[in-house]
Amino acid sequence: MKAIVYSGAWDIDIQDKAEPEITLPDEVIVEIKATGICGTDLSIISGEYMAKPNVIIGHESAGVIVAKGSGVESCEVGQRVIIDPTYFCGYCENCRRGQRNHCLHKSSTEAGVSIDGTFTKYFKTTKHFIYPLNDNIPFEQGAMSEPLSCVLTAVKKLAVTPFMRTAILGGGPIGLLFYMALTQHGVQEGVIYEASRQRIKLIEENNVLSKHWKIEPAFIPQKNQYDLIIDTTGSLLEKSMQAIADGGKISMMGLRNNQQTINPREIADRSISIIGSIDSMDTFKHAVDMINGGRMGLEKIITNDYNLDDFKLAIEHLGVNVGTRERSNNISSLKSVITI
Ligand SMILES: [Zn+2]
Ligand SMILES: [Zn+2]
Repeated sequence: MKAIVYSGAWDIDIQDKAEPEITLPDEVIVEIKATGICGTDLSIISGEYMAKPNVIIGHESAGVIVAKGSGVESCEVGQRVIIDPTYFCGYCENCRRGQRNHCLHKSSTEAGVSIDGTFTKYFKTTKHFIYPLNDNIPFEQGAMSEPLSCVLTAVKKLAVTPFMRTAILGGGPIGLLFYMALTQHGVQEGVIYEASRQRIKLIEENNVLSKHWKIEPAFIPQKNQYDLIIDTTGSLLEKSMQAIADGGKISMMGLRNNQQTINPREIADRSISIIGSIDSMDTFKHAVDMINGGRMGLEKIITNDYNLDDFKLAIEHLGVNVGTRERSNNISSLKSVITI
């Protein structure tokens, strides 16, 4: 089967890979119908996030079950499903401490990072990581469950209240999912800062935001400006420190490699919380339910879809140019999806 294989930084290609087969009773094979292109994929390709060489990338997916082991009674062949790609074992030290998104086996079990992912035709998982996708919801929306569940995990940690003056840094898919999740948590107004003019245009044209949320091109921090700052870019911590109010919270979610200088005294003296979050824990079902509800407006943010053969073009439209080995803000899509 054709697959997008990562060989090293800036080195990805379509290769032929063996189709998976059922070997254990609780296994399920899903024919992938849609996989979202995630910021993590882009950071892997640009060498800013580690992945195992020769792995098939891709992890935000939905599809149809085509085979199952003898011990799978919870789903049927032919059923439309969403895949939770974040495996956890349940018995390692971190899992037992309630940190399942940091399962110690992650370095050899994470789909699209350390084991083969879903930018291909078939993917093998187990019954524990399969959720039903309603018939009326397109596969590409089902594929948004993974990023949404990650956002819900972060929001849960932030204990938000409707009164927080809020800024989201980055109007990419994660920033926009934060907007949706925060709105559901009662934060009815705020600002999204986005550096790409093209992205701003798409967000405005598609009417993504409610009237109390604004989008602006330049984040110019002012003292005591926000109680809650969500940095989805992973590179604006210094500026966030300048804008965060006393007692405020800064959420860090982007996986970009860079150094930032902040003064630890200020964190204590001004009671600032800097809260990191990766992957999802105990929120995947919530994300699936929200998406199956069909009222999120995800169709407004899934703007582009491509064939597997056009993968390099797809990431080029997200500012990642494999030919020139450059990343830029020349971005002409909100969420892009590979459909098969
Ligand atoms: Zn993702
Ligand atoms: Zn574990």
